[in-house]
Amino acid sequence: MASLPVWALALHGGAGPVRSKDYAREEAHMAALLEPMAARLEGGAPALDVVTEAVEALEASGLHIAGKGAAPNAAGAWELDAALMDGPTRRAGAVAALQGFASPIRAARAVMEHTPHVLLAGEGAAGFCAARGLERVTDPQSYYTPATVRRATPGELAHGTVGAVARDTHGRLAAATSTGGLIGKTPGRVGDSPLIGAGTWADQRCAVSCTGQGELFIRANVAADVSARIVYARQSLHAAAAGALADMEALGGDGGLIAVDAEGNVATPFVSEGMKRGIATSAGVRDVRTFR
Ligand code: ASP
Repeated sequence: MASLPVWALALHGGAGPVRSKDYAREEAHMAALLEPMAARLEGGAPALDVVTEAVEALEASGLHIAGKGAAPNAAGAWELDAALMDGPTRRAGAVAALQGFASPIRAARAVMEHTPHVLLAGEGAAGFCAARGLERVTDPQSYYTPATVRRATPGELAHGTVGAVARDTHGRLAAATSTGGLIGKTPGRVGDSPLIGAGTWADQRCAVSCTGQGELFIRANVAADVSARIVYARQSLHAAAAGALADMEALGGDGGLIAVDAEGNVATPFVSEGMKRGIATSAGVRDVRTFR
């Protein structure tokens, strides 16, 4: 299976969309981004590199609640979370509540490659990024351009995230997720995105990136549950992804996920109103949508 020249890529831009808004710009950006990423996979690039590059581009677009589009927390500070995971080796890197750096996913990749750790948080993460010479955000007020978001009603948790999953032509799977988290979140709050197994996961069976109310995704351990259902319950990718999401929904959350498996199947289920998402595969599929 691993030698098949098959590749597959899925992206998401969060599960916060509402039907009253127009997402043409986000969809056009995602459709354009799929092409160079597809070309990278077609040329044999590693899934880990492609998901890193795709998420970095989604962060830089300022069109989603991640990277440049992130919104401040309740104290007016920008604290960002990100993680990535390499399926074949299960190496992983993540940052949480990171302030002052342009690309949290690059920071997560650096944690994976240049430390013996998986997750660095807060000031320690920022110190590490500074020592690595990663691109800084020196003036947050002018740098961040919060993507248009639904205003949360009291008790509601408005949110947004970006993610990518890929299967490369060598059969390797990888996942990456980056987020500004919940709008107006409590300082120090960390969501599911940087938690390996909750919001981000990759192994030899599947790669998963989640989006939605992080607290519920943590409590349901959604991303790793997709893989568990495949191996223990012998479910298809689609059944496993839907089942893991339903378990989270039963706890009272909403959101969605993107997932790819070892055969290059892609699943993009969501239980929210919409989820900005795009798919490209070696079979010629190109599909970008926000709603059903
Ligand atoms: N899951 C993210 C978090 O809770 C937010 C989102 O996906 O919209 O931080």
